[in-house]
Amino acid sequence: MGDDDIPPELTEQDRWDGWVMARLADGWCAALDRNTMLCTIYERRPVICRDYQVGDSDCIGERLQLSAA
Ligand code: SF4
Repeated sequence: MGDDDIPPELTEQDRWDGWVMARLADGWCAALDRNTMLCTIYERRPVICRDYQVGDSDCIGERLQLSAA
């Protein structure tokens, strides 16, 4: 995550020992408020989230995957 400043309790190590956002059992990001659908660490969200554009093809693909799960 480079220079990201994520609360440690919201991170975990992946199988390659890299630090990533923790996910809940259903795959959703642990930082997401499920009631508001807003990021609870918006000001500290990782760079990869900052680079993600709402409504672009990646965003739409992720939403389709989650709605199919
Ligand atoms: S913006 Fe990033 S950190 Fe925040 S809820 Fe979404 S995926 Fe998680």
